[in-house]
Amino acid sequence: MPDSYERLVAKLKRAHLLGTVSGLLAWDEQVNLPPDSIDQRSEQMALVAELQHAAAADPDIGALLAELEAQSLLSDIVSEEEARRVVVREARRDYDRLVRLPADFVAERARHVSLAYHAWVGARKAGDFAAFAPFLEKHLALARQEAELMGWGDRPYDYALDKHDPGMTAVTITVLFSELKTGLLPLVRAIEASPVKAPAGLFNDFPVEGQRTLLTEIATAMGFNFRRGRIDVSPHPFCEGCGADIRMTTRFDTDNPLDAIFSAIHETGHGLYEQGLPLAHLGTPLGQPVGMGVHESQSRLWENQVARSRAFWVRFEPRLRELFPGRLAGVSKEQLHLAMNAVEPTLIRTEADEIHYNLHVMLRFELERRLFAGELTVAGLPAAWNALSQELLGLTPPDDRLGVLQDVHWSGGAFGYFPSYCLGNMIAAQFWAVVGKVLPGLEADFEKGDFSRLLGWLRKNIHEQGRRYDTRALVRHVTGEELTPQYLLSYLRDRYAPLYLA
Ligand code: ZN
Repeated sequence: MPDSYERLVAKLKRAHLLGTVSGLLAWDEQVNLPPDSIDQRSEQMALVAELQHAAAADPDIGALLAELEAQSLLSDIVSEEEARRVVVREARRDYDRLVRLPADFVAERARHVSLAYHAWVGARKAGDFAAFAPFLEKHLALARQEAELMGWGDRPYDYALDKHDPGMTAVTITVLFSELKTGLLPLVRAIEASPVKAPAGLFNDFPVEGQRTLLTEIATAMGFNFRRGRIDVSPHPFCEGCGADIRMTTRFDTDNPLDAIFSAIHETGHGLYEQGLPLAHLGTPLGQPVGMGVHESQSRLWENQVARSRAFWVRFEPRLRELFPGRLAGVSKEQLHLAMNAVEPTLIRTEADEIHYNLHVMLRFELERRLFAGELTVAGLPAAWNALSQELLGLTPPDDRLGVLQDVHWSGGAFGYFPSYCLGNMIAAQFWAVVGKVLPGLEADFEKGDFSRLLGWLRKNIHEQGRRYDTRALVRHVTGEELTPQYLLSYLRDRYAPLYLA
């Protein structure tokens, strides 16, 4: 007879496996699904989601958790015992979040997500925020109600943040962001005023086949295991971790090969994290990522710190020129490097460079914080958006399509999600500072296309930890310091000041 812990793990794995089926169906919907098959796919997804919810909310899990929590030996910190303690602690967190939400609330919210998404698509097309406003109001009310049901009624926004990045609060993020803003704005303004501009229009007619070859070679060099994953094409690049099977996508534009390449590198960073989670613990919290911010730190570290560096392109620039003969004749190494590190303010978050991106996130965080604090109404959102956009980006959107209606997140009620992107940048830079100390000579590795020492370090210190630590505790564990924006600031200064302000 398996013991209680083994029975718990078997039940967690079953629920997780059903989740991987959902992931695969979702990936397939974006990549392969014939248009007229969408109705059946919706039914398939709803059915699997129902089965998965039932498996994860199985009352036996609750009973086993209560039994294991009562066993005092679980407080001992011995390797195997500690692993069990983490699984029980995190499984409790997940289980409570599932069973505390009544089925009718979950169904109502799911219906509203679908309605609000379609309302947002229409409102964005028409540039008509008022048409979307009632749906956003309802999402806010549902988010408050959810927090209430979960026992966070007095701190609904903290609950939303904690869902994406365990342990994070609005106060913590406010402090981090204001410190980052103080350091970042002078750098941003100086670069914007610089006479140096990244060259535009370098890339014309770069066939898709060559782009596909190059990004596959890069992902392979980074250490992505194609026997346990794939890269395909979808309108919006993403990485779907289906357990032991990682599905990533990119997109191709013959006049913008850097978009495909950097998107693929970003998603490969996510994919490497998923592939590095300990397989032995797959399906339990020890085989799962910490949260969005840490996930994003893994994609951005590869995309920015690694792939925008000179050393990286010592290896791959010759391949770029070789795969696209004649296309870059007359373009110098220096011009290419500047094009890969272009800095230009834009109204659209998804088009922002790695410096301005942080300002886009701060804007959204500040508005969410005010909405939840009751300092701002939904009706007042467009004006508040435009004012903050002017303050942070120096740009006022000419209409709401390029402003408050640009992102899909709020249509899904995904409050508390945006900060993860900027936290990911901070965490990546803080990890990177440690990497610089403990792995000397890494640039020489990169110049040869060898990323194994870096990946080994990420595996051991971050990927293999699963959910042992929450976001801030992981940063403390890896870097010996609290999360701070100072590493991001010095990384950005070191990279961009020599290019634009020399
Ligand atoms: Zn990402």
